[in-house]
Order: sequence, then structure tokens, then C-alpha cells
Amino acid sequence: MRPRIPLGRASLLASSIIRDARRAGFGTGTVTAVGRLRRFAPATCDVALLGVAPAGRHAQLVDAFARLPIVISIIAREPSRVRVETPRGPVTLHLADPDHAGAALVWHTGSRAHVAQLQARAERLGVRFADGRIAHASGAPLSCVTEQDLYDLLDLRFVAPELRDGDGEIEAAGEGRLPRLLSDLDIRGDLHMHSTWSDGRDTIADMVSAARQLGYEYIAITDHSERAWSSRTLRAADVDRQRDEIDAVRAKTRAIEVLHGVEVDIMHDGSLDFDDEVLGRFDIVLASLHDHGGHDGRRLTERYLRAIHHPLVNVITHPTNRVPGQSDGYALDFEALCAAAEDTGTALEIDGAPGHLDLDGILARRAAAAGVTIEVGSDGHGVDTLGRQMQFGVGTARRGWIEPQQVLNTRSAADVRAFIARKRARGA
Ligand SMILES: [Zn+2]
Ligand SMILES: [Zn+2]
Repeated sequence: MRPRIPLGRASLLASSIIRDARRAGFGTGTVTAVGRLRRFAPATCDVALLGVAPAGRHAQLVDAFARLPIVISIIAREPSRVRVETPRGPVTLHLADPDHAGAALVWHTGSRAHVAQLQARAERLGVRFADGRIAHASGAPLSCVTEQDLYDLLDLRFVAPELRDGDGEIEAAGEGRLPRLLSDLDIRGDLHMHSTWSDGRDTIADMVSAARQLGYEYIAITDHSERAWSSRTLRAADVDRQRDEIDAVRAKTRAIEVLHGVEVDIMHDGSLDFDDEVLGRFDIVLASLHDHGGHDGRRLTERYLRAIHHPLVNVITHPTNRVPGQSDGYALDFEALCAAAEDTGTALEIDGAPGHLDLDGILARRAAAAGVTIEVGSDGHGVDTLGRQMQFGVGTARRGWIEPQQVLNTRSAADVRAFIARKRARGA
């Protein structure tokens, strides 16, 4: 079955139901999201949660969970597990005893491939990992309070949940060559967001102050260009007025650097929606293909290549335009895109908006391996989405084994400006 609940919706459902469960007597810190949601997968079939409590309390907690106001009906119920329907999708609660919490957390976080590989390794080491517990071959249980305990028992380094796809992470953990993954704390700025000048909900001043509260050193305001496929767009005639507004905000807010950017549409012939004279007035140019025009992968690749070779284009946003839970996106010649991006000094984006999460983990990993600079952007359309969508972006990047030094916006504002200036100088 194709996972249908997008990460954004699953994450909201999980946090609201966890909050309700805590109020209903679960206590703090005892219920966490597991499954695809914890691995930042783009979509999930249901929301899976793990509660940790002594076995004697499981029946009572299953009852309390089944009675939460959000629950419409009970799909299945066992002594240590209950699956319920809610208006926003099915939710499964698993319960584990504290002595086995670590093994249960790994078990229910998955993926299946990762767990199967751990099981095979356990067998070689003469232990058994099954049903959320780890035990001697004789059946005597081994204590496994944390996930670290489980990986220690299997003689492995800790594997971050985002890497648990059965895609080489266990070999890497065994050989001590796991990546030093990007984390939220590495992000120094956000180079992709919208204001009321296009389809954003908040003013530039509000976006800047929200970004300051997130501790960023810099941001870029990147509204949609005039003919973009978007409900509201920025007219070429308004670019200077927008710059004036940014200058006014800059004068009041010295604590954060504000770049005047744009998310310019890539037109059907691969040209850009603003001409070079207009584009040259922006500090940073993101280019995006919002309207595929019914073109096949070959023609879409050509459109992208033309944009990538444009000296004023610095970042290609959400390159595949996949829709989590619905479509896999364009059938692009990804090798060609990466080669051109690397060659021209153009970054490819990991867009953290739940409707994008693009590049996804696998393609991000391929891009980084090809030497392409990655940009992680929130694509926030309101102050409330900036932080949350950056977290999704970082989670998606971690799925792609991305390290901080591969990411443009882990660098200083001066280094970001130098990245832009290098391409402009080369193209001149
Ligand atoms: Zn876009
Ligand atoms: Zn955008």
C-alpha cells in the first residue's frame, strides 16, 4: 500500500495525540512517534506511537488511549497494542516495558529492511532480536533500555533514525564510517521564503522577526516572479519597491542580514520569467519549474539545464516537483542535472515544505555524492511555518546522508554571497 498521509499532516496528528495522551495519564516523555514519521519519510500509512510503561499498566493505558476524544473507532486491540481510527488517519499505539524500551524503539521505528538486517546480524552473534525484544538464543531476555544499548549489543555504532532504510547504514555503522549528519544547529540561515509580496501570509518585517527568533544569521526573501504558477506574484515593476521595504527593515534590524531574493519561474523554453536586468538587481536568485507544461523528462531536463547555466541562477528549488504520498515527480536525467549544477556552482534544494520534501533522501545523496552544493530551505509562506519546515528539510537531508559542509546555508552570510558572486563572475 502506498503511504498516503504526508509527513506534515502525520506530524501534526502525532503531536496533538501525544499531547492528549499525556493529559490522559501517560505522563511526560513516555510516548514518542515511531515508524516512518520518526524517520522523516515523506508520507506514512498511519501514525505509529510507542509508549513506555511497566507491563502491569499496559491494559489501563490501552483503555485510556482508546477513550481519547479524537478516537472515532477502535480498529484492533491487544494487551499491549491498540489501533484506532481518527478523523485525520489511523493511529497505532504500541506499549513496551522499560527494560525493553530501546529494542522496542528500534523495532517500531523500522524500516523493515533495517530491522531485518539487524536480525540477521543478531543471529550471527548468537542473540535473537524479535517482536521488539532482544534475548539470548536460549530465550533469556537481555536488558535494552535505550537504542544505544541495542546497537552496542550488536557491536554497531548508533544509527540515526533517518538513515535506517537498509541502504548500507549497517555496514557503515559496523565499520565506523557513518556520516556526521547535518543537524538543526548547523543551519545559519534560510534562503527560501515568501512574503505578502507574493503568496506568503506575512509581511517581510514579520518574517524577519520570526527568523531572528529562530536564531538565524541571515535570510532571503524569495517571492514568486510575475508569471509564476502561484495565487499571487511579484511584478517586475514592483521589484524596486520591494527592495525599498527590505532596506527599511534592514535599517531597523541589524541583528540579521536580509538578502533580497526571488524564486523566478523557468518558462517553457527554459528562459526565466524576469529578464537579466531585473534579475541582476536581486542578491540571490532561486529558479523553479512550477509549470511542467506537459513536457516529458527529456524536455524538462533541458529547461532545467538552461536555467542552471544562467549566471544569475544560484539555486534550483524543489527540483523533481514530486508530491509526497501522491506522485514521484519528474523523470529527469538527474545525472545531467547534477553534473551541470556542480560544474556551474549552482545549488540544488532540499525544500522542507511538506508538499515538497524535494530533493528527497536518495536523490539528495546522489547530488551530494556528485559534489553538488545543497541548499536546505523552509519555503515558508508564514511565520508559523519557518521553523517547522526547516526541521522537515533537515530531516529529509539527513535521510540523504547529508553532512553540514555540503550545505550552502550552514555557511556564513559572507560565504553565501561569495558563492553567488563566483557564479556571476564566471558567467560575465
Ligand atoms: Zn516553489
Ligand atoms: Zn517557494
